[in-house]
Amino acid sequence: MATWRIVPLDAGDFLAFEKSRFTYQRNVGEKIQAPCLVWLLLGGPEPVLVDLGPTPPEEAERVHGWAMRREPRHDLVAQLKAHRVNPEDVETVLVTHLHWDHVSNAHLFPRARIYVQRRELAYAAAPLYPQRGSYEADEPSPPWMRNWGRYVVLDGDREVVPGVTAHLLPGHTPGSQGIGVETADGVYLIAGDNVDLFENWEGAPGLPHIPGSIFVNLEDYLRSFARMETLARFVLPSHDMRVLERPEYP
Ligand SMILES: [Zn+2]
Repeated sequence: MATWRIVPLDAGDFLAFEKSRFTYQRNVGEKIQAPCLVWLLLGGPEPVLVDLGPTPPEEAERVHGWAMRREPRHDLVAQLKAHRVNPEDVETVLVTHLHWDHVSNAHLFPRARIYVQRRELAYAAAPLYPQRGSYEADEPSPPWMRNWGRYVVLDGDREVVPGVTAHLLPGHTPGSQGIGVETADGVYLIAGDNVDLFENWEGAPGLPHIPGSIFVNLEDYLRSFARMETLARFVLPSHDMRVLERPEYP
């Protein structure tokens, strides 16, 4: 068992975010702050990143109409350097899916290859029309396409570096992947937007888990939830402020 450590980095926060987008048909009208998390994996043969964060706030506001906060403390380069990681030395990035708030900022990591599922690339190229906005499909330069030429395409599960395994888990998007990370405390799964908040995973009375409101196929999503139960001891959500209460996992 490899002994990675998982450091959550906040790449910018959604302000007054409609919570029901995260919790299917629940919490309508409730507004929350939600970080866009990037994950730095340390303690292995090389530093690894999971997800790349959102576009700058001005661009997010213009394209999506969402208020965002990005202060100096959200600077990814500074946060990496605080952990003695030089961005130019990052060679391996895995993205959970290709939505705009998970795939921007690759320019900061010029040597990185970006691991993504083939099904996600295919869907990003031609999303169903209610979901075009999440991929910025009507923009001249969608964030996921700015990384063209740097993708390494995965067909299902694969150990990308020792102790870091990509798992194809269709749900939030058809090609979403969760990243299993072996730590001294067992496997943690970085779940991407299949699990936005801890409460998605924790569920509610009568609901083993709560899906988000964005998906193509709910049956696939629930099957992936069931599979995630077998893959990891702990599940880390993608947009929960509570993640940042700990500087690292485990
Ligand atoms: Zn998403």
